[in-house]
Amino acid sequence: MAKKLLVQNKILKGGIHYLTSDYKTRNESRSTHNGMDFIGPNKIDDIVAIEDGIVNYVGYDKKGGYWVSIKTNGIEHRYFHLKKGSIKVKKNNQVKKGTVIATMGKTGNATSYNVHFAIYKNGYQDPKPYLMNKDPFNLRNNDAFTTFVKGIQASLGANVDGIAGPETLNKTITISRTLNNKHPVVKVIQEYLQTLGYDLGKYGIDDVYGPQMEQIIKDYQEKIVGLKGNLIDGIITAKKYTWEKLLKLS
Ligand SMILES: [Zn+2]
Repeated sequence: MAKKLLVQNKILKGGIHYLTSDYKTRNESRSTHNGMDFIGPNKIDDIVAIEDGIVNYVGYDKKGGYWVSIKTNGIEHRYFHLKKGSIKVKKNNQVKKGTVIATMGKTGNATSYNVHFAIYKNGYQDPKPYLMNKDPFNLRNNDAFTTFVKGIQASLGANVDGIAGPETLNKTITISRTLNNKHPVVKVIQEYLQTLGYDLGKYGIDDVYGPQMEQIIKDYQEKIVGLKGNLIDGIITAKKYTWEKLLKLS
């Protein structure tokens, strides 16, 4: 019954995936199945993140058991039936592709050890393209990123073509709690951070560079830009690579 599936982007640490139940829509079957179920060769396998992202949910419900959702460019990848106590991530953690996030379990509505993997964006989607394609989350070309680049270009007076390059980088300004903290570019960055899955706190998208945003930028500088010590200062400058990273130029 289990069929070995060769995947490009693994969710089981060992990389060997046996499909025990496929995604089914109402058109294909009387009962729907909003994800794909997998087992590995070891009966109880470790589960890894399919892509870099931000943890946007860790919790429990009767159907899914313990489960985790990680968000990348507005797309949630969800892992269900996790073993109790095995979850290694917390909400708002930044996770790298291939990092162990939990161990397979049978919590919730599951009769045997397996992981139910689902993709959620405006409803559940077939996970297969995300498992099989080389760049399924389309990090460089996706709509949210293009919107972000165009917004940056418009608010900084650069040529608006949706393609970030040296000209756009040249026009960038320093943003901090005291410098340009109400510049229109702040809102563009806030909207983008939200699509990446960051929680902007009680003030949300308020067009002001405040303490919550500073905390997110510090986290971004540490975990994504790779800065250390005093360089993690929450100041967005081209000099210290934060702009370059936001614009995916490095
Ligand atoms: Zn399932």
